[in-house]
Amino acid sequence: MMSSLSSYFQDLQEEMIQWRRLVHKHPEPAWCEFGTATFVAQLLKKWGFEIHMGKDLIGEERMNLPAQESLDSFYKQAMERHDLDKELLAKTEGGYTAVAGVMEHGDGPVKVFRVDMDALPITESQSTEHRPSIKQFASTHAGFMHACGHDAHTAIGLGLAKYISEHKELLQGKIIILFQPAEEGLGGMAAVVKHPLFSQVDEAYGCHVWANRDPQEFICGTYGQLASKKFDVKITGKASHAALAPEKGINAMLPAAEIILSLEQLKAEFPSHIRLNIGQMQAGTARNIICPEAILKIETRAGDTLTRDKLYNAAIRTIEEITRKYACSCKVSLVGEAESAASSKELAKKVKQTVTSASLFANCIEAELHNTYSEDFCTLMNHVQQSGGQAVFMGIGASNNAGTHHQPHFDIREEVMWKTARILAELSSQK
Ligand SMILES: [Zn+2]
Ligand SMILES: [Zn+2]
Repeated sequence: MMSSLSSYFQDLQEEMIQWRRLVHKHPEPAWCEFGTATFVAQLLKKWGFEIHMGKDLIGEERMNLPAQESLDSFYKQAMERHDLDKELLAKTEGGYTAVAGVMEHGDGPVKVFRVDMDALPITESQSTEHRPSIKQFASTHAGFMHACGHDAHTAIGLGLAKYISEHKELLQGKIIILFQPAEEGLGGMAAVVKHPLFSQVDEAYGCHVWANRDPQEFICGTYGQLASKKFDVKITGKASHAALAPEKGINAMLPAAEIILSLEQLKAEFPSHIRLNIGQMQAGTARNIICPEAILKIETRAGDTLTRDKLYNAAIRTIEEITRKYACSCKVSLVGEAESAASSKELAKKVKQTVTSASLFANCIEAELHNTYSEDFCTLMNHVQQSGGQAVFMGIGASNNAGTHHQPHFDIREEVMWKTARILAELSSQK
């Protein structure tokens, strides 16, 4: 049984690599995963899954939707592809880019396997040392790149789906494979989690390939991803001629500058593991105009949801006090949010047994306690655990010596994809 499962996925490896490379070639950022979602949906449909997608899966709460021009331009690119089913594509129009495939057989638990599909606004390296360039599957969407491995996750989800469709008789219960949009920026899961599909889940599995970890490592459960809140602050002052009537203007840049300095000081009042970053400021129109508007893009993170909220609330208070002092108005928009979560110990133990007995990863790490990233899957983990189910988030070492995540040279070892899909396949059919 064990070895036949491994050999099934070894045989599938070539096809999984082709899927990953196709997705890698067409990177689409959060809420613009039109081509990827359609590609996934048409395979799931071919394999006999019940499909939920588009408005049938996504609620109206979509945080941080990109500008209409971005949505239009990525949708147009997907329309121009000849390999996509245009009827399925139409369901994603407007940024409804989640897909779930459901397969059921006999009585038993409800299990969700979640993968993500979004890419990043990064220009991919054209270096002759960069494997996607050498093998000719580098990004064809200028300025965008799969630099976090979500292309590999998509291929892993598809590998699992193909296996399940060909071994339906082994299932005992219901399997849901969720291909989520908008993991980067943390807004995708909140838009789908309230769907009835996820109301009574017994087990939820999520995983991430890590390019900064040895490919022999498999982390069976993580605990305490950083809870995060990402928000934009728009400060409105009043424009005026800088020489003729400066007194008639209100310079929005002044409170913006004070906010930047004050938030930096605010950090000292919190434990050292918290993160608060103002990553971007946009302000002003011209040298001789009193600046009427300033926008700050800020994120807060902490090891638990309570501390995150305290930090966020303190930041908002500071921002409001300062803008008031300068007689400006301010508007805060939440654009992304993730909770902290801990894997269910019992389920992580089951993962460990499966990984150990599969003998595909030499270094099976039971638990990782300190994480310095946030993960949108945490929202589903908490949702499932709060309704009595179990959830686990796993990490897969995938280093190809190309550096860490979110940079132009990012790459992974592709053989970890079939190995991971094989582990998930065994977990899918266990009672
Ligand atoms: Zn990422
Ligand atoms: Zn990622």
